[in-house]
Amino acid sequence: PIVLGFETSCDETGVGIVRGIELLADAVATSVDEHARFGGVVPEVASRAHLDAMVPTVHRALDQAGLKLSDIDAIAVTSGPGLAGALLVGVAAAKAYALALGKPIYGVNHLAAHVCVDQLEHGPLPQPAMALLVSGGHSSLLLVPDVATDVRPLGNTIDDAAGEAFDKVARVLGLGFPGGPHVDRAARDGDPAAIAFPRGLTGPRDAPYDFSFSGLKTAVARWIEARERAGEPVPVADVAASFQEAVVDVLTRKALRACKENGVDHLLIGGGVAANSRLRALATERAEAMGIRVRVPRPGLCTDNGAMVAALGAQLVASGVEPSALDLPADSSMPVTEIVAQGLS
Ligand code: ATP
Ligand code: MG
Ligand code: FE
Repeated sequence: PIVLGFETSCDETGVGIVRGIELLADAVATSVDEHARFGGVVPEVASRAHLDAMVPTVHRALDQAGLKLSDIDAIAVTSGPGLAGALLVGVAAAKAYALALGKPIYGVNHLAAHVCVDQLEHGPLPQPAMALLVSGGHSSLLLVPDVATDVRPLGNTIDDAAGEAFDKVARVLGLGFPGGPHVDRAARDGDPAAIAFPRGLTGPRDAPYDFSFSGLKTAVARWIEARERAGEPVPVADVAASFQEAVVDVLTRKALRACKENGVDHLLIGGGVAANSRLRALATERAEAMGIRVRVPRPGLCTDNGAMVAALGAQLVASGVEPSALDLPADSSMPVTEIVAQGLS
């Protein structure tokens, strides 16, 4: 089926088109520059920007794919989780297109879409797969027997998400927003072993699949403060590299442990932080030594986009999952176990 997907859960207006697992178009407009001076996404600003960008982005996607609206077989839209007002714009737009075209609509889970998108690049998802989902709002280990019907959370962050930690550390280092790509770049010239930052929740009695990044974030801020108080310059590259190493060390160790303990030999990494160059390298290196295959989509498909939503929509169609009712809600706290939204009635 040809599926048109809408993504508006945060500050990216994404419209993607797929045919099965083939990527036909991926158009993204972002309001990131409008949020930068606030150091974080401002929900009202994001919603407004989605309204402005929505229809032009649909046209851009159709142009890329060389298709007309009448070629579309089904609509998919991020139902949640995300910013309520931002989600509403995408959900309302998707409903309008579905109604006008007389096509089914699937309200899909944004987190499952982050996992599903790798199909577009590396072919059908292995079943089962272990998924490490690391993004601006989430850090989870998911056992995924079938991304269309069965996603099981094994562990989550108990405080900050990995991407949130990158963004906050970038801020104390005086780097730009969002922080992940800036820290990634700064870290290239730094020594990852320069500073021994804490590895959260890695003690023998800690929950094996949960994460914690708030202690690390505080440790980095304290370390920088101490340098400044001593009147010494802050070695930005070394701090960035050492912080990044602490994050990706824990992420890869726990994800591979989950693979081993659950007898799963494929690890998928998804979400914005999966774009991190050191995470990609270390996961691949450590997995190889354990006979585990790692799959990570290219960076542009890791951060929010419409293609991932279309990809999950197409998977739902292929699996014979019932579409959502036309009164499907925007659900800002949609749980990852709910892959497709039900109607309200
Ligand atoms: P969620 O998916 O949990 O709803 P989100 O959609 O806002 O959150 P994503 O777009 O998936 O988040 O990811 C954005 C996050 O990814 C930001 O925190 C950003 O700093 C981080 N990020 C992007 N690129 C990199 C990178 N190269 N290294 C580390 N982090 C990165
Ligand atoms: Mg974003
Ligand atoms: Fe996301």
